[in-house]
Amino acid sequence: MPVDATLPYDDQNIFAKILRGEIPATRLYEDDYALAFPDINPQSPTHILVIPKGAYVSWDDFSAHASDAEITGFVRAVGTVARDAGLVASGYRLLANAGLDSHQEVPHLHVHIFAGRTLGPLLA
Ligand code: C5P
Repeated sequence: MPVDATLPYDDQNIFAKILRGEIPATRLYEDDYALAFPDINPQSPTHILVIPKGAYVSWDDFSAHASDAEITGFVRAVGTVARDAGLVASGYRLLANAGLDSHQEVPHLHVHIFAGRTLGPLLA
């Protein structure tokens, strides 16, 4: 069910619960700004989600309201996760859904990292 990313942040969303440790996830990477864990329903051999620790619904919310430190920390974390997973040589795809048309399902900003196979053209 896609979410309306213009709504206020809901601290009962599933990724907020993962951040608080109320729902288990394999914590692949964690620092002050970001947490990474495997997607529960992988769409490629490697499918990792990276989320900011702050309460942001979408890329729009994050880019408009996060501090420079949060933005820098999060972007660096996404790169670090991909590098640490050994994805640089073969390549990977980043994707962040935002709002209804994108079919964003979880109302906490997340960047997907897809890798491990030839992904084909975007939107294929
Ligand atoms: O970008 P979008 O919001 O559609 O993606 C949400 C992603 O969160 C899905 O790929 C889904 O498999 C994943 N998910 C997860 N663990 C959960 C709930 C959803 O990895 N407990």
